[in-house]
Amino acid sequence: MNIILLGPPGAGKGTQARKLVDERNMIQLSTGDMLREAKTSGTEMGNKVAAVMERGELVTDEIVIGLIEEKLQGDHAGGFIFDGFPRTLAQADALADLLKSHGTQLDTVIAMEVNDDALVDRITARSTCGNCGEVYNDHTKPQPADGKCSNCGASDFKRRADDNEASLRTRLMEYYKKTSPLIGYYHAKGQLQWVAGLGEIDEVAGAISAVLDA
Ligand code: ADP
Ligand code: ZN
Repeated sequence: MNIILLGPPGAGKGTQARKLVDERNMIQLSTGDMLREAKTSGTEMGNKVAAVMERGELVTDEIVIGLIEEKLQGDHAGGFIFDGFPRTLAQADALADLLKSHGTQLDTVIAMEVNDDALVDRITARSTCGNCGEVYNDHTKPQPADGKCSNCGASDFKRRADDNEASLRTRLMEYYKKTSPLIGYYHAKGQLQWVAGLGEIDEVAGAISAVLDA
């Protein structure tokens, strides 16, 4: 089963994708994570995208489609979770072609419904474990008092360079201008399912599971 998690920055796509990986043996393909990795690798492509990401703008379709194409090689019976991809109609068309060329297709698009005020709160409170990627939130899931990640035990918490108000405003605008048209696109294809994204992590996970098992 191949699914897309669709929603604005801070909607909780990454958190839910990680739960699906644990519970359903699926593979998470996060273009945001891939681009951040490229950035730390210091390659030419990495340096080029770093500045774009920090401003909160979208990286070119060509780059992200190339990254996804690489990861689709090989056999993955559990299926893929596309997290943060596609973000434009061109990316959506490219994904359909890529899946088709691998003899598979997209099954469901989960659109996560949230309101903008919650997004700003969530993102400015967000940090992650630099070792395993576990996501923390200053209000709802603070970093453990002993300074060690509850998932892997590392003490290397990070905040993203683009998790500040100015970049966030740009990221939201990019989402509404370029990504939200995908809601209509997948609705027209009969693949769109809405899930309320504002509840507790486990409530949202339950709602997503209900859609996937339906
Ligand atoms: P969020 O969903 O919280 O904004 P991501 O980690 O998915 O975070 O993305 C961070 C940044 O990486 C984006 O603001 C953008 O610059 C870049 N990016 C990630 N995925 C894509 C994509 N599919 N197309 C273009 N740019 C992308
Ligand atoms: Zn960790």
